[in-house]
Amino acid sequence: MSVLSSQFKPTSYWWEAAPPIDGTRAAPDGNYDVAVVGSGVIGLNAALALAEGGRKVVVFDSGKIGSGASTRNNGSIVPFHFLHQEQLEARFGAEVGARVARMFVDAFEHLLKVPKRYGFDPMIKPYERFFLACSPKHYAHYVADAALEGERGLGLGWKPIDKAELERRTGVRGYHGGLHIPNSLAMHSGLYIQGVAQACIAAGVDLIGKCRVLKMRGGGGTTTLVTERGEVRAREVVVATNGYSDGAVPYLKQRLIPARLYLSATEPVDPKLMERFFPDRQLADSKRSMGWIRPTPDGTRLMVGGRGGMMGNDPEVHARKLYQDMVAMVPELAGIKLTHCWYGVIAFPMDFLPHVSKVDGIHYIVGCCGVGMCAGTYLGNRIGNRILGAPQADSATAVDDLRFPRIPGPSAMNRLYSRLGIEWYNLRDWWDLRQK
Ligand SMILES: Cc1cc2nc3c(=O)[nH]c(=O)nc-3n(C[C@H](O)[C@H](O)[C@H](O)COP(=O)(O)OP(=O)(O)OC[C@H]3O[C@@H](n4cnc5c(N)ncnc54)[C@H](O)[C@@H]3O)c2cc1C
Repeated sequence: MSVLSSQFKPTSYWWEAAPPIDGTRAAPDGNYDVAVVGSGVIGLNAALALAEGGRKVVVFDSGKIGSGASTRNNGSIVPFHFLHQEQLEARFGAEVGARVARMFVDAFEHLLKVPKRYGFDPMIKPYERFFLACSPKHYAHYVADAALEGERGLGLGWKPIDKAELERRTGVRGYHGGLHIPNSLAMHSGLYIQGVAQACIAAGVDLIGKCRVLKMRGGGGTTTLVTERGEVRAREVVVATNGYSDGAVPYLKQRLIPARLYLSATEPVDPKLMERFFPDRQLADSKRSMGWIRPTPDGTRLMVGGRGGMMGNDPEVHARKLYQDMVAMVPELAGIKLTHCWYGVIAFPMDFLPHVSKVDGIHYIVGCCGVGMCAGTYLGNRIGNRILGAPQADSATAVDDLRFPRIPGPSAMNRLYSRLGIEWYNLRDWWDLRQK
């Protein structure tokens, strides 16, 4: 039996309700105060702040507007980085670690204000979230994480729960306990980006999709952008190309490792099964190659995600793998077919932290890894404010002073590093799971 529906599509499920647009103009209109390269969550939020501050702004994207990772993701809205406070402090010291952890809470609060301010509905819903421990060692980490968070964290209310309680609360069996995260939200990423793009249009931003920026040349306080539809000059440039960064931005190519994450959507699921396993609840396992399941915002279908590896890029192959992961987590879901499977590209800096930097007059904002919807909204807005000359209170970020390390070796190797990195994670998962 095929696990793919006869209507299977290799495109983002979010695009069904919110198809990305080509843009508002076919070509640039003279010169601009600010040019933004990349129309994801970061680029659009930066453009919005700048246009509201009275600047003439253009946004370029090599694909349709918002069609990068920002409309291909899981839509989770969480007040934390995937490196929890303990790891942030261990890597960067107590002061920086605490500052960065705090920034993710501020970013979470900031994102929630955006739809209200611009009057759109991205279907934000509260979901309780359970992380499922695949080994006793993983459960011990959850216990330690929750203790640290309770002791000197930000009051996020994380609670470890043992195997029996996990089974009672989720119906899911075969794990060694879990971590319960109460204050987590999720949204429809397509509607969110559509709402921000519409706010940009209302503020007068020129959006030019399917127009790659090929090269940038600086000099005399302005930058010339050579694009697929001609040259344009701008006094300031914001680059927010993240995992899709190409030869136009060698500075980023030397500093980011791109990685594909895969996501799929199922056909409508029996409401009784949804009520039993996914009543406004997301499940994610503790493996480094994490797999996760969430309900769609209307509660009728499931979305199943995970990392790729050395399996090539064929969405159908990944769909079959995600189906197996789904059934391994909740065997009762066997037989439910997948209607969509797609990937998005995110980018990992060497230190796993977001980076904002200004080099040769160009502002770069990248590296939000798998947690970019809140942080990207916030950082885009802050750097927009900074260019407008806003006070520190509205423009400083916790990552301003961080060094942005260069990845050793030629950047042509980065895709290979990415695949090897994922395989290394898979190998470590396999090792951990042997120790049951
Ligand atoms: C499957 C998946 C699940 C995820 N789940 C979550 C989640 O639940 N919660 C969360 O917060 N985050 C999640 N993320 C991460 C989140 O999607 C990203 O961190 C975020 O979207 C990055 O936004 P961005 O603006 O930096 O880049 P993108 O949205 O990737 O935008 C970059 C844009 O730059 C354009 N571009 C690149 N080069 C050029 C050029 N030369 N000229 C013109 N345009 C160019 C690209 O076409 C692209 O549209 C997930 C990501 C994936 C892939």
